[in-house]
Amino acid sequence: MIKGSCLCGEVKYEYGAEISELAVCHCGQCKKAQGTPFATNAPIDLAKMKWLSGEENFKSYSSSENKRRVFCANCGSPLFSQRTDMPETIRLRVGTITEGKIPEPSYQIYCESVSSWFVLDKNRPRYMQNKAVQRTPADSDSTLS
Ligand SMILES: [Zn+2]
Ligand SMILES: [Zn+2]
Repeated sequence: MIKGSCLCGEVKYEYGAEISELAVCHCGQCKKAQGTPFATNAPIDLAKMKWLSGEENFKSYSSSENKRRVFCANCGSPLFSQRTDMPETIRLRVGTITEGKIPEPSYQIYCESVSSWFVLDKNRPRYMQNKAVQRTPADSDSTLS
């Protein structure tokens, strides 16, 4: 069982099957839609998806004639995309999954537009939580108005 939710928590879902395929998409539309250098999308069977709450928050944008991208109108979390020519398969944004197994990415698509600046370097510092904010003397002297 896969469970997930949007950032504000109003949209909640359960998926009654395993995720068998995961695509890393480097296309220009996904980058803008997610605000990230790539998207992680799993094609899943809409019939096995159960929206537990928040369906009234669904807002969609048709980024191309045959594809809409659905997000939570309250918090903006990208949820899935859906093509008009095969609406029974939706592509779930797996970053919204909170429980259950996500497989390793199966393949990458639209590598022609890969973000060359994005390099995960294992030798650079890794923090288990957020990096401490380093305040400069000028910051601590100023008062926010
Ligand atoms: Zn939300
Ligand atoms: Zn894409």
